[in-house]
Amino acid sequence: MSTVFSKIIAREIPADIVYEDELVLAFRDIAPSAPTHILIIPKREIATANDVTAEDEAALGRLFTVAAKIAAEEGIAENGYRLIVNCNEHGGQEVFHLHMHLLGGRSLGPMLARK
Ligand code: AMP
Repeated sequence: MSTVFSKIIAREIPADIVYEDELVLAFRDIAPSAPTHILIIPKREIATANDVTAEDEAALGRLFTVAAKIAAEEGIAENGYRLIVNCNEHGGQEVFHLHMHLLGGRSLGPMLARK
């Protein structure tokens, strides 16, 4: 089942794309949770972190190298940032095309909300 992210890859719906190569695409989150909030996705549609295979290792590694490149470009590398991959219901995943969130530009506080 195709998601909204496949439509962004295919340019069927607009997005603020900040990076693209043969393996991954990066674009600004439509509802940012921080001054910098960018999603980096493999072009191959992998539904969740449960569905990765050895064939995906190049694309998944690329998520990290692209995150570091974008963080430098956004001017947030030195102060730091957070990379998140949500999986399924308990992880709070809403779009079932695996994606890495790159969040920064302010202090993000503790990793999980404390209840
Ligand atoms: P997750 O909860 O990890 O699945 O995160 C999905 C993210 O996708 C959310 O932060 C949404 O704001 C974001 N999102 C959903 N639709 C779009 C879109 N069309 N363009 C950019 N970001 C989107």
